[in-house]
Amino acid sequence: MRLTEKKIEEVVKYAVGNDVLKLVKKLSKKDNISEFKLADQLKEDIKRVRNMLYRLYELNLVSFNRKKDKKKGWYIYSWTFKKDQIKYLYHKIKKERLDKLQETLEYEQKEQYFICPDNCVRLNFDQAVNFEFRCPECNKLVSQEDLSKRIEEIKKEVKELKKELAKI
Ligand SMILES: [Zn+2]
Repeated sequence: MRLTEKKIEEVVKYAVGNDVLKLVKKLSKKDNISEFKLADQLKEDIKRVRNMLYRLYELNLVSFNRKKDKKKGWYIYSWTFKKDQIKYLYHKIKKERLDKLQETLEYEQKEQYFICPDNCVRLNFDQAVNFEFRCPECNKLVSQEDLSKRIEEIKKEVKELKKELAKI
């Protein structure tokens, strides 16, 4: 799989959040940038930048180096973006989506649903029996939902995801 900028953005947005995109852009241009430099370039408060870096670090998307500033006596942290980890996360996100879809598919194929003609409720079989096949909101008769279209759509997405996962 080729890691385009768009793909990196997609993963970062999904896994860490929109607000770190600017930071990631800076990090992907150069390795080993000090957090003060990053804060300066982004015109952000150092605490906020650190918070974003830690969030990336939790997902193993950055690594750091620290060096002692001899004059000031504190440590300066420099950060590097781990691009390879994006591939791993991308795979993980897609795999989770696939598992969830397959679970939904199995469930929807097994279960029967009943809907009110006015769309007040969606009931499973047991619930529909309990309400004697009447909508608990408006008392109209509920009818069995046709899931074929939804199932078809899920199947299509499952197929696409499998194809994509095979490429990674
Ligand atoms: Zn109703």
